[in-house]
Order: sequence, then C-alpha cells, then structure tokens
Amino acid sequence: MTEIVGIDLGTTNSLCAVFRDGQPQLIPNPHGEFLTPSVVGILENGQVVVGAPARELRITRPERCRATFKRDMGSGRQVLIGRQTFSAVELSSLVLRSLKEDAESFLKQPVHEAVITVPAYFNDLQRKATRQAGEMAGLRVRRIINEPTAAALTYGFHDRTSDKKLLVIDLGGGTFDVTLMEVFDGTLEIISTAGESHLGGEDFTDALAASVLRGRNLDLEVVEDESPLLVSRLRQECEQAKRRLQTKEEVWIRIPDRKGHVGDNDPHSAVRVTREGFIQATKSLMERLKEPIRRVLRDGQSGPGDLDEVILVGGATRMLVLRQFVTDFFQREPQCRHNPDEVVALGAAVQAALMADDPALGDMVMTDVCPFTLGVEICRRFGDRHNDGYFSPIIHRNTTIPVSREEAYFTIEPNQDEVMFNIYQGEGRKVKDNLKLGELRVKGVPPGPAGQQVNVRFTYDLNGLLEVEARVPQTGKMFKTLLVNNVSLTGAELQAAIARMQALKSCPRDEVANRQLLLFAEKLVGEVNKEERRGLEQALDQFEQALDERDRGQFQHTRQGLLLVLESLGFRYEENRGYEDHDAGDHGDKKTDK
Ligand code: ADP
Ligand code: MG
Repeated sequence: MTEIVGIDLGTTNSLCAVFRDGQPQLIPNPHGEFLTPSVVGILENGQVVVGAPARELRITRPERCRATFKRDMGSGRQVLIGRQTFSAVELSSLVLRSLKEDAESFLKQPVHEAVITVPAYFNDLQRKATRQAGEMAGLRVRRIINEPTAAALTYGFHDRTSDKKLLVIDLGGGTFDVTLMEVFDGTLEIISTAGESHLGGEDFTDALAASVLRGRNLDLEVVEDESPLLVSRLRQECEQAKRRLQTKEEVWIRIPDRKGHVGDNDPHSAVRVTREGFIQATKSLMERLKEPIRRVLRDGQSGPGDLDEVILVGGATRMLVLRQFVTDFFQREPQCRHNPDEVVALGAAVQAALMADDPALGDMVMTDVCPFTLGVEICRRFGDRHNDGYFSPIIHRNTTIPVSREEAYFTIEPNQDEVMFNIYQGEGRKVKDNLKLGELRVKGVPPGPAGQQVNVRFTYDLNGLLEVEARVPQTGKMFKTLLVNNVSLTGAELQAAIARMQALKSCPRDEVANRQLLLFAEKLVGEVNKEERRGLEQALDQFEQALDERDRGQFQHTRQGLLLVLESLGFRYEENRGYEDHDAGDHGDKKTDK
C-alpha cells in the first residue's frame, strides 16, 4: 500500500502526518518530536543536519546554517552555507528529505507521495518552487494546498456534521493568512482568503531586537552587517523573551557581545522589557494584521458578528498581544481546540486521505478559492494616445477553483502581427502595483485594421497553479505560457540539482541526537567563566572525538561525562527538546531571567 503523507513545510517548523486508522496522525522525528525546525546546517564533516541540531549550530556558527529560507521560495536567490551555494528550493528539499526519512522510519515502508501545504498567499512562482522542492526530495507532490485550508480541514474533519461559519487566522513564523469558511453537511467551502506572505512571528522577534538595540542607539541592520554573531544570539534572546512574556509581566534580555557571548554577571548587558514595551515595539506589525482580516470579511460579505468561531493557527498566535487583538476585534474569545502548531499538517493528511478515497471520510467534500486576482497588462486609449500599464483581471480573487476563464483582447495598431501579454497577479489597478508572473508572446495575427481579436484563457488548478493559453480565433493558432519570471528549473537543471542534493549525505539518524547535544554544549562554552570552561571543553573534546571516530564503545561513556559536566554547571539538557521548548518558561539555559 502506498501512503501519501501530509507535510506542513513551515518557515519556522515543519511537520509530517499520515492518515491511519480513520484519523490523521503526526509522525515523530528522530528526537521523538513532531515539530522539526526548518533549519538546515552543514557540519564540518560535510554532513547535513536538519531541525533541532541545525538550530543549535546556527547560534554558534550562523555561517554554516540557514533558516527562514521559505521566504525566498520562488525568488531565485542563492545563499551560501560554508562554501556551497543553495537555493531556497534546495534547502527546502533537504527539510522534505528529512521528513520523508522520518515517515519511512515510522511507517516502515518507502514513501513516494505527498500533499504539501503552502501559505494561501503564496504566488504561482512560490507554489511551483515548493512542488520542485518535493521532486528534489524524491516526493511526487500529489497536491499543494493552502495552509489555512488544511487547518480548516482538521476542524472540518472533526466537526463534519455541524453547520458553521469559521474564520481561520494563521500567523506563523513568516506568513499571515486569514480564511473565511463555511461547514455544512460534510461540505467545507472556503469563501474567501487574504494575507501577507512577509509577515509573521519572526518579524515580532526582529521588532523586539531592533527596539532593544535602538535603546542603545544602534541599528539592527547595521549591527547585523558588522557582528552577525551578536545579532543571531540576540534574536535567540528576544525569541525566548517574546515567549516568556506570555506568563511574565516583564523579562530581561541579555545583549551579547560582538562574538555573540552573553555574560551572566554584567548588569549593563541586560535590558528589561515589559509587556507594554513589547506592545509598543510591535505596534506597526499589529496594524498590518487588520487589513487582510477586513478584506476577507468584505469579500465574504460577512461581518465579525456573522462568525460562529474564530480559530487561531500558527505558533505566533500564542502571543498575548495577538489574542487580545483578536478578542477586541471580534468581541469574542478565539478558539484553539486543536494544537495551533499541528492543525496544518493534520489537515494535509486529511487531504491525502481525500485523495486516496479513504472510507473514513465518507462523502466529505472541500472546495477552495483562488486567493488573488490574475490577469494581463493592457493599454487604455485616451483620445489618440495609448497608455499601457493597466491591469485587466481574468480570474478574480476568491473565485472557487478549479477555474478556467477566457477573455478577448484586441490589437491596437493596423497590421499588428504580434501581441505580447504580460501576466500579473495582484489587486492593483495598474500593473506596477502587482506581481509579474510571466509573459506570453502571440505571433501571426492576420493583417488588418486595429481591433484583431486574440483570446486569452487562464486556468487555475486545484494546486493553485496557473496555466495561460492564447488563441487567435481567425487562424485557430494556440500559444502557451512562457514564464520569463520563471525561476523553476528545467528538466536538466532539476536533475543536476537532485544529483547535488543526493551527494550531500545526511547525518546518520542514530547520531543526530548526539550531534545535537554536542552543539548545545558548544554554545555554552562562551557563557561560562574561565575555570568552568576548561572542564566543559575537555568533556566536549572527548565526546566529539568519540562521535567523529564513530566509536560506539565511547559514545555512552563520554556522553554521560558531558551531561554530568553540564549538570554541574547548572544547565539542564532535555534530550527531546534541546533548550527551547514550546511552553513559556525556562528553556534549559540558566539564569536567563533576573
Ligand atoms: P511556520 O508555520 O511559519 O513554520 P509556526 O506556526 O511554527 O510557523 O510558528 C512559528 C512562530 O511562532 C515563530 O515566530 C515563533 O516565535 C512563534 N511562537 C511559537 N511559540 C510561541 C510562543 N509561546 N509565544 C510567542 N510566539 C511563539
Ligand atoms: Mg505554519
């Protein structure tokens, strides 16, 4: 039996789930966790680590790691890790490969197919990039679905018989989506969706870091250029502070030195942040959340009072500022019946089950919409002048998908034998405010006066991928899209990329936990005093040597030694969680609060 897994490929965390025994279930990674941080690192021995160990590595060796690359999907941007360059697609493929391995180990069978989720607001290029990342990881991507839709599927699956209007608010690490949906009689209908693909919890962390530095007359970007280690460590401090503000009225943030070290004893190196201070630092971000919510309600012809439930999804909806904002905006408490970190992956598994016709779903049906308007650039005539740059919509936002629409356009010059269609996505009246997706050149328009007809057909499929065709009715000649903005790879390029990724060996599964401990302890070297440092380094050296030599006899012994040293220094290391768990509170680092 082939299993289709459901994957939530997040900016911050990724998860994998499968539908079994009539239920969606999450799949654990080698650390026994469901959340795998979307961080990729390359160890000095050339092995790839994904998840918690890579996140540890990122603190001490930011140049060997990459995170938040989902933001660059579809952009063609390349980043350096060590001496190798990677695209966001390649880095994502390494995360997917790791999840695929987790699934294979959990299911005890090969996995070749997946449903992958993307932010509703991901454009065509970002969706194609995601599909390609899947292929690169050896996964046939059976369907790309929108994250809030997947979240809605989890709610809808457990609430199939109800009759409700729901609003899903999904604030993840890097993206914000809002979706209005209705459940009735086993049918889940997405009514409207809106969002921002560059707004998430990481921006709240950055805003906090920027405000801390501003308090010292420093600019985050300038400091980041000069001392990346300082900023990578400060971000971690701010991330923890942001979480702790859920339970504490005020927290202390330690400001690292240029090498990224934080001292425990220097009172000048810490600043106090209150809840109010956090609200002030993130005010402009909160403002940006309002517009997509208003738009979704407007498009769905609903008001806050028409909703039966407001559902929160995504780790960043744990922030008190956000909950308060939602409560004020909707005049009701938001719902969180399913774990906000997990609903998207679970919903992807429900979608996988829908595709596999799993009998547990009965006749549940789901319909989705196209989240943005798609169209072409046109000229407008003013007297005898033609001005170009206007946007002519072909598929309007929030049209139910799949959808195929045709529009007629006309030549503007006599004997014009060629028409160039520039294809755009967005809501602007002029194309300069929208995103260019590609272009389509139509040749061989028959001679004649201006006004010769060319038809353009847009087809938007269930994956949210666009296909554009043009036809000259007089000759019947057809033309297909040529995406100039297309950063997705050609067949040969893809094969080359696959080969390059395959050449990168993953850190063996049975070694990952040890690598993580090593990286965790390495990070602490800069935090202890010089007497403590010697003992710690010694234990580290021995453990590292045992690891490098793959000397199993010494693994346990030196590991135990290192754990003892850590304990004697007052650091708590939790095998399955590393230092950063998802509850507010202490995270294994000592004395982070004063
Ligand atoms: P993504 O789907 O983009 O991977 P997640 O849904 O996993 O993102 O959310 C990650 C974001 O949630 C991060 O920015 C993280 O800082 C934030 N986050 C997670 N837990 C908390 C918490 N307890 N308090 C505040 N923010 C949190
Ligand atoms: Mg998410």
